[in-house]
Amino acid sequence: MPSYDKTTIEDLIDGTLPWPSTRTIMSSYKDEDRFDVYREILQERVEWSEEILLPIGEHLYIVQAEHGRIVKCDCGHEFGDYRQNWKLSALVRVRGDRASIEEIYPGRYSCDPEWMEIREFICPGCTTLLEVEAAPPGFPIVFDFLPDLEAFYRDWLRRPLPEQH
Ligand SMILES: [Zn+2]
Repeated sequence: MPSYDKTTIEDLIDGTLPWPSTRTIMSSYKDEDRFDVYREILQERVEWSEEILLPIGEHLYIVQAEHGRIVKCDCGHEFGDYRQNWKLSALVRVRGDRASIEEIYPGRYSCDPEWMEIREFICPGCTTLLEVEAAPPGFPIVFDFLPDLEAFYRDWLRRPLPEQH
């Protein structure tokens, strides 16, 4: 297993990638400080100082804030406790008719708006598109995943999760 230097990991970040892919790349735990380098690069790129515990999307992180572990956008917008679904406090654009769906999935890639709508979740702080989900109309907003932070630190990083202040 090759060791990844910081430049390689920066390329990885810039080329990519929502969290599930990143998780796959990082989960080959033999290179134990890979996550630390990854985290360090992300930390250098944001303008706030709360410690990043885990990236959960291209622009979203679980951070250790003074008032608890929260989801934060790289613009600094805070979505609140990481155990709550951050999408519920995002701006939402629903593409629920054929014309608006075809703006992104033209022609035969389109879906029937009676059966499926596209929901775009946007950061209120920087208006970046953070996440897109497709769901049947009326279906509750999907909570992508609730990471087990304790287990991630214990089993993958082999050290305790940083203490709450
Ligand atoms: Zn933002």
